Amino acid sequence: MIPADSDLARVDFLAPKEVLALASAGLRTARQLLDHLPRRYEDRRRFDSFPAEAGGAPVCIRGTVIDTRNRFGPRVRFYEAVVADASGSGVGPATLTCRWFNMPFLSKVLAAGQEIILHGKPKEFQGRIVIDHPDFEVIKDDAGPSIHLERIVPVYRNVSGIAQRRLREIQYSTLDAVDPATLATAFDVDPTYPRHEACREAHFPEAMEQAEAARRRFALEEFFAVQLNVVWRRRRIHDCSGRVLGRKTELLTAFYESLPFDLTGAQKRSIKEVVADMRQPRPMNRLLQGDVGSGKTFVAMASMLLAVDSGAQAALMAPTQILAEQHFLTFRQWLEPLGVRVALRTADRQESTHVELEGDAQIIIGTHALLYDEALFSDLGLIVIDEQHKFGVMQRGRLIDRGTRPDVLVMTATPIPRTLTMTIYGDLDVSILDERPAGRGKMVTALRVKPRQSDLNKFVKTQLEEGRQAYLVYPLVEESTKLKAESATAAHEKWLKRLTKFEVGLLHGKIDAEEKESVMRRFRDHEIDALVATTVIEVGVDVPNANLMIIHHAERFGLAQLHQLRGRIGRGEHKSYCILLTDGKSPDAMEKLQVMEKTSDGFVIAEEDLRLRGPGDVLGTLQSGLGDFRFPDFLADTALLREARALADQVIGEDPKLDGPHSALRSWISDEEKPAPTS
Ligand code: ADP
Ligand code: MG
Repeated sequence: MIPADSDLARVDFLAPKEVLALASAGLRTARQLLDHLPRRYEDRRRFDSFPAEAGGAPVCIRGTVIDTRNRFGPRVRFYEAVVADASGSGVGPATLTCRWFNMPFLSKVLAAGQEIILHGKPKEFQGRIVIDHPDFEVIKDDAGPSIHLERIVPVYRNVSGIAQRRLREIQYSTLDAVDPATLATAFDVDPTYPRHEACREAHFPEAMEQAEAARRRFALEEFFAVQLNVVWRRRRIHDCSGRVLGRKTELLTAFYESLPFDLTGAQKRSIKEVVADMRQPRPMNRLLQGDVGSGKTFVAMASMLLAVDSGAQAALMAPTQILAEQHFLTFRQWLEPLGVRVALRTADRQESTHVELEGDAQIIIGTHALLYDEALFSDLGLIVIDEQHKFGVMQRGRLIDRGTRPDVLVMTATPIPRTLTMTIYGDLDVSILDERPAGRGKMVTALRVKPRQSDLNKFVKTQLEEGRQAYLVYPLVEESTKLKAESATAAHEKWLKRLTKFEVGLLHGKIDAEEKESVMRRFRDHEIDALVATTVIEVGVDVPNANLMIIHHAERFGLAQLHQLRGRIGRGEHKSYCILLTDGKSPDAMEKLQVMEKTSDGFVIAEEDLRLRGPGDVLGTLQSGLGDFRFPDFLADTALLREARALADQVIGEDPKLDGPHSALRSWISDEEKPAPTS
């Protein structure tokens, strides 16, 4: 028996060449090898019949190679094998053609006479059914019972230099060689299901239920590791002392009285939650999650007034210059009449109302630049971070680590699924704005494949003539040789000619800050009717009179991004139109765009996004640095996540500093989360 952490170089059944191959795949110890779980399974106790139709699920079939050849197409070369059904079942066609492109070396591996197992998706090619690039495995004569046949067989992610069949043998021998006791981890998430048993059942299950049970155990482990960090971070913040704010509410009351409309129930509830937090003698650490247009700004404003009421300063950070400018204008509009001193601070500009010195401002609006300017605040009590998904976790950490420990309210419009919220924002308390302000017009979304330009022009003109405004969105700033998509700059020229009676503006990231601001201001004041823009308008821009958005090359945008973009319209009383233009070439893109037509519910869109792209991608764009999740199924495993959270709460509850009974878990806390050593 060998310990799980043994170096594979010391394992006697591995050839030195194999040790090297495994090491280049990151597998250096027996434990790492066993953690390399199957990517799928094949039930080789029975095989599918040969496919008679294209499409559908992948098939797993067994047959004999009767012919092979290298073929050369106009641009490609491929290796082709004709396989005959050896089962004699008479169901389905008798033969099937398989093709592998640009893999001429297969001629050395695959030859007539061999019996093989194939796994792949049948498709139609020139009237025939073929499988391109199937997984395959040559059957060898096995003496005695085999791990490759007559059972559920694991199929692994490829390790370059080691055949599937050999990898399976290696895993099997490793399972036998490793001392089960040493496979245990510092914390056992499920003592009723020993880890070594789960390991065996994950690699060589007797039934698919076993494989799933094992996967769930490893998923729980993985979730637990994350939640332990989350709960640890949360605890750290809760342990800090903060100041008590919000005893006085004069400004807040005056603000309420000045509003010409009622706040929504959700806005009122969220403000109440914030007030309760701010009155606590520990720092607030709250997330305000609300779909685009749900009215987060007023919740921020109310919270900030509460801080000012207590004599502290409040800051609002926005991810872009445009957004900071806009917030500044909004805050001025509402708060100047109440006598509140508001200042703007971005990398490019500084402006204040009533005040010359920023130190004298009660409310400071700014961009990231704020983060790096300690001198800006004399007495900061509250920080609001708008559109958090544009900031990284690290930046959030940096803020919270300031000496003064202000209250923090983080706002996001990314309605991510619950599983992800608990992962990314798990250390925050959550308020949700799930209600839209009253008096909004209807919104129609239409997907159009190459419509006539003249029809589009006519539609735009009708809306503009009725006094509305439009966004014309493009994916690129300038023409690019690589990407064949129209750019905002080129399109602007065209729209100037199409809409001669109207003012047409241009906005993109490469325009300098002053010009950007002036274009935005003119659009807001309706001096510009139609704005040709890139995704710079994606976040936060609020012009209720704009009711039309045409998104060109819509297939190039992600679902989350499209939802954000569309959130710019539908903010006023008028009926709104979002038109998605596409070339219709990619079925995947059409499926994605149809989601936009079907729903405007951000949560549904987020789940579809996750389903279509997978958590790796979605997480990647939300924040990097969370690491890869290998086992969890992000849509389905919510219950497991809750379990992991409960376990983490329990562990930290029993041993808040992880220096007692659970000290072995200290190493599971990622480095940045560990407190600075106290002297
Ligand atoms: P978001 O949540 O996307 O940041 P905003 O705070 O920009 O949304 O609000 C969107 C629009 O709705 C703004 O024009 C705002 O003035 C308006 N609004 C917000 N709350 C209400 C309300 N309770 N009643 C009417 N209009 C509101
Ligand atoms: Mg906003």
